Parts: sequence; structure tokens; C-alpha cells
Amino acid sequence: MKILRIEVYQVFINLAQPFVIATDTITAINSVIIKIADDQGNIGWGEAAPQPVILGETVESILACLDVIAPSLIGKDPRKIEEIVEMMDRLILRNTAAKAAVDMAIHDLVGRAWGEPLWRLLGGAREKIETDLTIGIKPTGEAVKDILKLLKEGFKVIKLKVGKDPEEDIERVKAVREAVGGEVRIRIDANQGWTRQQAVHALKKMAKYNIEFVEQPVQALDISGLAFVRQAIAIPVMVDESVHQPEDAIRVITENAADYINIKLMKSGGLWKARKIAAIAEAAAMPCMVGSMIETDLAITAAIHFATAVTNVKFGDLDLGFSLRPKNRLVEKGGAEFSEGYVIPSNKPGLGVVKMREELLQGPVNVYEQ
Ligand code: MG
Repeated sequence: MKILRIEVYQVFINLAQPFVIATDTITAINSVIIKIADDQGNIGWGEAAPQPVILGETVESILACLDVIAPSLIGKDPRKIEEIVEMMDRLILRNTAAKAAVDMAIHDLVGRAWGEPLWRLLGGAREKIETDLTIGIKPTGEAVKDILKLLKEGFKVIKLKVGKDPEEDIERVKAVREAVGGEVRIRIDANQGWTRQQAVHALKKMAKYNIEFVEQPVQALDISGLAFVRQAIAIPVMVDESVHQPEDAIRVITENAADYINIKLMKSGGLWKARKIAAIAEAAAMPCMVGSMIETDLAITAAIHFATAVTNVKFGDLDLGFSLRPKNRLVEKGGAEFSEGYVIPSNKPGLGVVKMREELLQGPVNVYEQ
């Protein structure tokens, strides 16, 4: 098997309403999509979703990075994923969203060639995983109304975005707990928005509302701050923005800075490195969650395959667009589906995507071939 051709596209999908987190306000999904074809007639799809504030990548930087990587992929055997991942790291540092697109497309292609869905090729731990539903920062009344409506869709876990104003955050968490009752699990995500002192203050007040865990209470690079907050509160701490690569996981573990790690393909550079993070965490008895960035359902499908494949992934934050409410879906048929609070990857080969809405793709903006 040899990689023959790589096509690069752009996709732009508006959200039904802005999605607000502590560090950003998002109004659209703006991704780079790649299609890799081999010499046997197999293809694979991949997505790079830039989130400049977290990843330091933009659409333009992803296109430039693919310009560095793609020519070296032509002629390579896609089955040699470890070799390809190492090669990408040798060619260019970081740029993990761009690398994730390549990693995802190669996994999809190899899965299709071998006739197996990725969740089974990568480990096959389970056939579905429970997902939470994420609610962005919005006025309390609006948040409660949205949650009560969406709980009817089958969600049993809510992830509330916080981190802008600690007092308002405490009020919102209280109102949501009172509205949903004791059965629904609540997680919160501060997206680096609090100082150490604000985090300790807010989380001590919130403890009585039975919070499952708090994601990224303080800044990504403040690892000792995470350890400080974790020591001071009873709610478990999950790192998200602090851990991109396997090396980051080691640091968080050795500094006792977290209870859980949130793995995302755009931070890890794809499925291959995500597995390494999950393995490192497992060896430290640290369960993981799998989440997503501002991505189309193509990349979320890849994350669902990963989350279901690996035993040490205990939590899912993969609601397939219920939170972001994109005006369009890129996957028209196949991929993954949502049912009764769970997401289920397809049993079709690779990512299981049967049909893409290719009319949404702009381009190809670049083509690489032999
Ligand atoms: Mg997060």
C-alpha cells in the first residue's frame, strides 16, 4: 500500500448561536478537511480544527503545516502509522491539529482497507460510551431552560462552562442543581478562567451541589496552581488545556496536579498519540475523558471511535453537536450516532463514514500527489 494523493479542503459551518467559554466566544466551525487516497483505491478522511487560543493554530497555519508534511507522505505505506507520526514530529514541532488530520485520515484509510471499524482496531473496549452535554456560559435562566429541554433528548450528565465570574458561577451551578434534581450528574469546566484563590473559593462553595469533577480551574501552564487547588478542595480536578502531548501527562502525574485527563485529538495530534496519553495515565491509575474542540461531526466521530476503543477512557464529552448546534453536519451517512445519552460508533470500516456532505467542502485548496 502506498499513499498516492492528498486533497486539502476548507469547511465553514455557522453555529445556531454563539458558544461562550471563559477564554473565547465561538460563532462557527472553521476546519481544514483532508482526503488521502492510496494506490489500492482506498480513501480516508481527516479534520484539523484550529482553536488559536488553545492550540496556537489557525486555518492558515494548518494549510502551511500540511504544505511541510504532505509531500513527505506521498509514497509512504499508510499501515506504518508509528513511522508516519514520528516523521511528522521530525518535520515540524507541535501543530497538533494539522497532524491530527493526517493521523485521522490514515487511520480511516487503513480501517477501510482492513474492513474493520477503528473502535475495534484500536482495542474494542466497548461498543458505546456515555456522553455529557455541554452548556456554554449564558444567563442562568437561559441555561436552565436549555438544560431542561435537552435532558428530554436522553442526556444524564451535564457539563457547565464556568470561569468568567466566580460569584455568578456559584449561582448558576446552584440554580442548575436545583432545577435538575439529584439524579443528573453535573461536571463543570472553568477553561483556565479562575485564579487559584477564585478557584478554591468557588469550588468550596459548589461542593454541596455534588460536582462530579472540575475541568481546568486555572491557567494551562500553572501546573503547581492545579496541585494547589486540588489539595484545597474535595471535588476531583481534570486537566484539559494543560495536557496536549504525552510529555504533558507525565508532568501532571509527577506533580500530583490532577485526578483525570481530558484527551482531545486536536491537542494530541491524533489517535496514535492519544493512545499513548491514555496508556501513561492508566499506568498512573488516572482515568481519562475524551472530548472535542470546535469540530465537525467528522472529527468527533474519530474521537468516539477512540473513546470506545480504550478501557482507560471513563468519561465522554462527545455530544455530536448538541452543544454547538452547527447549522449543518459534514457526515451525511454513517459515522457515529447518539442514543439515550450514549454515542455509538458505526461498525462499518474505518471511521464508518458512508457519505460526506462534500458540497460543504471548499476546494480542493491544495493537492499533493506523486
Ligand atoms: Mg475543557
